Amino acid sequence: MFTSKNSKFVGNPVRKLDLLAEKLSIEGKKVIKLNTGDPAKYFSPPKTLQKAYIKAIKENKFFYSSILGVKELREEIARRYKKYYNLEVRDERIVVAQGISELINFLNASLIDINDSAILFRPFYPPYLPSLLFFGGKPLFVDFDEEKEWSIDVDILRRRIKNQRKKPKYILLINPNNPTGSVLSKKELEEIVEVAKDFDIFIVSDEIYDELVFNEKFTSICEVAKGIPYAIFNGASKSYVATGLRLGYAIFPEEDKKSNELYKKFVDFASLRLCANTPAQYAFAEALKNEKEHKVFLRKFLKELKQRVKLSTKLANEIDCLSVKEPKAAFYIFPKVDFSKLKIKNDKELVEKLLIKKFVQVVDGSGFGSPKHIRIVTLADKQTLNEAFQRISEFFKEERKLS
Ligand code: PLP
Repeated sequence: MFTSKNSKFVGNPVRKLDLLAEKLSIEGKKVIKLNTGDPAKYFSPPKTLQKAYIKAIKENKFFYSSILGVKELREEIARRYKKYYNLEVRDERIVVAQGISELINFLNASLIDINDSAILFRPFYPPYLPSLLFFGGKPLFVDFDEEKEWSIDVDILRRRIKNQRKKPKYILLINPNNPTGSVLSKKELEEIVEVAKDFDIFIVSDEIYDELVFNEKFTSICEVAKGIPYAIFNGASKSYVATGLRLGYAIFPEEDKKSNELYKKFVDFASLRLCANTPAQYAFAEALKNEKEHKVFLRKFLKELKQRVKLSTKLANEIDCLSVKEPKAAFYIFPKVDFSKLKIKNDKELVEKLLIKKFVQVVDGSGFGSPKHIRIVTLADKQTLNEAFQRISEFFKEERKLS
C-alpha cells in the first residue's frame, strides 16, 4: 500500500456523504443538508467581527503572527475567562489554533504513543477518535446513560480506569455535548475531577458550546478543577457564528509538571505550522472586546436556536421509529432509531438511503460511537426543517417492515 497504515483511520463521518450530496445537487435535486453544525450557513456573525476582519485586511495584517497567537486576542480570551468563570490565567498560557480541529491533532500528537489510551465518553464528537487512532492510541469508552438524561456513572469510569494495566493519558470531556446536547452538572464534573485526581490523569475539556446552553447555568471545568492538570478547548466557531474563520484556542491554566509539558508541546506543534490566520485573529479579538454587542447577539441567537431545537424534537418524535428528548444545549438532536420496525439494517445504510431517496443529509450515529442513533442538525429555518422532516417521515413510512 502506498499510503500509511494508520491513514486508514482518517476521515470525518460528518462529511462522508458530502460528495454524493454535491453530485445530487448538480443533478438538480433539492438537497437539504442537516449534517454539519455550521451556524454561519443560517446566521451572520456579530458586525464588529465582520468590520474588524476587513480592517485587519486593509491594514495589511497578512504577516505570520506569534506562534501562540496575536497577543491582543490572547489577552481578550484571558479576560473572558476571568469575567465568565473567575479564572486567573496568563495570556502566555493560551495557544491559538486554526480551530479546535487543529488542537485535536496537537493533543494526540503530543501525548499518544502506540497503545496508549484515552477515555472517551460515548457518544462523542467524531474527529477525536480518528485522530487518537491515527497516532496509535486506543479509546477507552465510557457510555453516557441515555435513560438518565445522558448522565455519567462515575463508578463505571473509576472501574474502567482501575482495570487498565497502563493508565489512560487523558480524559476527554465534550461539555456541552455534541451530538446529544447534554450538559454535565457541577456534581458530575466534581466527581470526574476526583477520579482524575485519584489516578493522576490529565483532563481535556472541549467547551465550544459553553454559551449555547438554554435553561441552566453552565459549569466550566476551570471552576472545579483547581490545582489539577487540565486544558480547555474553545473557539470562535459556534457562539460567534464564525466557523469559516477557523479559530480555536487551548488554555493551560495550571502550572504543574503535566500541564507545563503539554503546553510546551502544543507550542512546538503550533510552531511547525507557523501561525493561525492573522487577520482573523484581530477580528476575533475585536469581537471578544465588544461584550455589549455579543450579549445582545447571543440573546437573539439562543432564542432562535431554542425554537429550532424544539421544533425538530417535536417533528422527530412524530415519526414512528424515532425518539428523542429535547437537548439542553447547542443545535443538534440525536434521535434513537427503532430498527426492529424497519427494513433497513443499520444507521449507515439509513443515512445513505435517506440522501439518495429523499435528498436529506444527516449523519449516522456510528461516527459518534452510537449506531442506534442518527444526528440531525437543527440550524435551518422553520420552513426548511418542516420540509426536511416531512421527507424523513415519508422515508420511514416507505422503509417500514410489512407486518
Ligand atoms: N468541538 C466540538 C464539540 C464540535 O462540535 C465542533 C464542531 O462541530 C468542533 C470542536 C470544531 O471546532 P472548530 O470549528 O473550532 O474546529
